[in-house]
Amino acid sequence: MILFKKEYQLQNYLTSLKSDKKSIGFVPTMGALHDGHLSLIRKAKEENDCVVCSIFVNPTQFNNATDLEKYPRTAAKDIELLTSVGTDVLLMPPVEEVYPKGLDTTLELDFGELANVMEGEFRPGHFDGMAQVVNRLVNMVQPHSLYMGQKDFQQITIVRSMLTQLESKIKLVMCPIKREENGLAMSSRNVRLTPENRNLAVKISQTLTTAKKLVDKKTPKEVKEWAMQELGIPEFKPEYFEIVDGISLQSIDDFSETNFAVACTAVWAGEVRLIDNMVLKS
Ligand code: AMP
Repeated sequence: MILFKKEYQLQNYLTSLKSDKKSIGFVPTMGALHDGHLSLIRKAKEENDCVVCSIFVNPTQFNNATDLEKYPRTAAKDIELLTSVGTDVLLMPPVEEVYPKGLDTTLELDFGELANVMEGEFRPGHFDGMAQVVNRLVNMVQPHSLYMGQKDFQQITIVRSMLTQLESKIKLVMCPIKREENGLAMSSRNVRLTPENRNLAVKISQTLTTAKKLVDKKTPKEVKEWAMQELGIPEFKPEYFEIVDGISLQSIDDFSETNFAVACTAVWAGEVRLIDNMVLKS
């Protein structure tokens, strides 16, 4: 694996591959890697000649300074893991390489209601920062395909909208959520859970799984109310549990309204904010 910190070095390397008609798959991450991230790399390896992974903890998408400061950073272990799955290139740019003085990286795109609901409501500005960095990193790598996880369902929906608005030819590939054996969605933030909350956090995926079984028996509103109650244990603070159309991300009143219904939730488990989702109907 080759490590680059500078854009021009990365581009020198990739330009020669591209002129040899090699396909480039790109997996952007914020590091603290786990098997969920590695599943994206494996998928990209299957489909491309060269896989580029980036590790960059993007300050512009954190609306909470403590969250940014406490975000786990495990570079040495990440490098080992990336090497073990055959990653070809690792891009680890410093902040000034991603946002150099004099380069306007802001994006004038309109995500409409996609960015106002759920994460958009509880993390103001998050998606503007996320789209800004994904666009910037994509411009640095200029891949053929971009691999992102269903784990961040609203994020990938917004990236899809961004690529459409930019008339990009990049193929966006959504990879399924990797879970621990007990069902907890893998997340870099899980290492910050207390052992007790880590056990309790299983409740999030269990609630989503039960919600899926209730589709034929209850209305979305009833499922949502039941789920918020289920997740409202003293150790947790559920922020939202929404049942949305998987394309528009707008809440549905009746399961017959869509053939792609997704339940999305965010829960504070102590000081750690966890998100998860499940397709209820597709
Ligand atoms: P992050 O480092 O959290 O920004 O995540 C980088 C990429 O990995 C994003 O596209 C995430 O959706 C994806 N990802 C994170 N957790 C998982 C998981 N448990 N399963 C699959 N993909 C994931």
